[in-house]
Amino acid sequence: MNDPFQQLQDELAELNKAYREKLPGKICALEEAWEEVRQAPEQIEVLKNFHLKVHSLAGSGATYGLPELSASARKLELALNDLIQAEMAGFDRKKGAIQLLFDELKLTVAELAPSGAPAPVEPGPTLPEPAPVIEAPVPRRRASDCPANPSLKEGEPPSHCEKSPYKEIYNRSIWLIEAGEADRESAGYQLSYFGYRVNRFQSLTHIPDEAFGQLPAALIFDLADPQKQLDTPAELAQIKRFNKAAVPLIFLSEHADLETRLDAVRKGGKAYLIKPFKTLELIDILDNLTSPAKPDPYEILVIDDDSSVADYYSTILSSAGMRTRIVNQPAEALKVLADQNFDLVLMDFYMPGCSGPELAAVIRQQQAYVSIPIVYLSGEKNRNQQLAAMSQGADDFLTKPITPAHLKTAVTNRAQRSRVLRELMVRDSLTGLLNHTETKARLNAEVARAKRNAEPLAFAMVDIDHFKRVNDTYGHLVGDSVIKSISRLLRQRLRKTDTIGRYGGEEFAVILPSTAAQNARQILDEIREKFSHIRFQGETAEFSATFSCGVAAYPQYHAPIELNAAADQALYQAKKSGRNRVVVAEPGMPSQKP
Ligand code: GH3
Ligand code: MG
Ligand code: MG
Repeated sequence: MNDPFQQLQDELAELNKAYREKLPGKICALEEAWEEVRQAPEQIEVLKNFHLKVHSLAGSGATYGLPELSASARKLELALNDLIQAEMAGFDRKKGAIQLLFDELKLTVAELAPSGAPAPVEPGPTLPEPAPVIEAPVPRRRASDCPANPSLKEGEPPSHCEKSPYKEIYNRSIWLIEAGEADRESAGYQLSYFGYRVNRFQSLTHIPDEAFGQLPAALIFDLADPQKQLDTPAELAQIKRFNKAAVPLIFLSEHADLETRLDAVRKGGKAYLIKPFKTLELIDILDNLTSPAKPDPYEILVIDDDSSVADYYSTILSSAGMRTRIVNQPAEALKVLADQNFDLVLMDFYMPGCSGPELAAVIRQQQAYVSIPIVYLSGEKNRNQQLAAMSQGADDFLTKPITPAHLKTAVTNRAQRSRVLRELMVRDSLTGLLNHTETKARLNAEVARAKRNAEPLAFAMVDIDHFKRVNDTYGHLVGDSVIKSISRLLRQRLRKTDTIGRYGGEEFAVILPSTAAQNARQILDEIREKFSHIRFQGETAEFSATFSCGVAAYPQYHAPIELNAAADQALYQAKKSGRNRVVVAEPGMPSQKP
């Protein structure tokens, strides 16, 4: 019933109908433009305006599956091209021929039934899924993160189902088969601090049937000897149920021999960890197995002065799961680009006021947009023109009309490459968080947005306490694992709309849009509390770590630079007053450097 192909076809038919209804209006506008040319034949700009309108009709006609209309407009366009090249020379001689071509075009439009058959849509080949980005940054969100699970006793101490006014918690349900008693070192206990909701069962056969109504994101076996304990018919039947439902199985074992590992693989094990292992290794595996299969949809900016054409392409791209934003005025493009990150710009070639190549050159002049792919979509068939345009900063030239399948594939492939490259540029390699430069750029953009929407915004700086000691005592690699764990925790506990950056070595920055200072304090304090419970494994001993945090908020602090300085001062205050705390900046707070 909900056939996406049929849905696209219906939407395109709607657009097609609307386009045909607009045609008489377009002809009126052409009449006016042509009249202006006849009144002022010495002004080439007036002729160019007429030419642009004709060109646009040729392109949109082709897009909407009206080849006669497109061909007729194209003939007129070519005649006008000649006249422009000749700088209007011989206008009086040529205007009769142009009038004839224009009349022919009007006739073609008049002959079109107002709501004929829609443009044919090809189902096209199956598109490749967007490639996963490095360190898939967005954990899966679930509507039902806190199932009322009728399991046995819970092994986790903290609750992750608390109702916070703020949160979309990325809580993931994990089932743990653990024969022994849970203690502080238990995997379940530690996992709970990373946003996983752990339900413990003594054995596979202890899982009640009702529990299967809400399957977990993964099943972990922490058994003394998995091989021996999972071979009864009842256990094998349970394992089959999980395999069938594609729930990943993870084995924790003291045995490293091939036979035991093979047995785990044959039972559908997706991961196998030898005990003792580091909690972070298990978290890594869980994050990978339970992170969303699909990254965020590609964001495409469609720039076309003809709104019916822009709507048409936008509809096709949306049907392929992309998010589009339409700009009809080239002048608006820069504003929109500053507002949001796009994976690709799809742009018309001829537009009033500013041509595609000119706009591309302006976009490329700005460092932030150097790598964004720009693809022209135009009726321009002249290969030399196309190549000339591409030498001015565009990446490709697609010719109208283009089939929906071709458009989807061309845009997906380029957006995919662009996203991978962009992630490499803006993310820190150890944590996958945004790097310092990108975080600052986002702060500027978010503050501008907060101003526009008259909403608060909080900025927090987080710094690990006595981190030098951690490195000195346990070594740099263990220090790195602490950095990774805090970044993971921040990602899991914050909203998708929040920005998290690695600001410096062991310093992090968080931007929380639409959040007031006290609210941000509460959120970060919860994270601080959770972090302090995580146990890290050094070579010789276990340890825990803490962090301090400074918070400042807009509009109390207005400019990004003020927010940054105020959060820094609050952080300094948090350190000075004993560490392991969150402090909100107040006016008059003593400055870090007296
Ligand atoms: P404070 O509580 O005052 O913040 O003390 P601190 O020891 O955390 O602060 P300090 O700025 O003196 O030391 C920060 C340390 O962080 C020093 C540096 O070696 C370490 N560090 C910075 N980047 C990294 C990294 O990527 N990995 C590791 N392991 N250590 C890092
Ligand atoms: Mg520190
Ligand atoms: Mg520091």
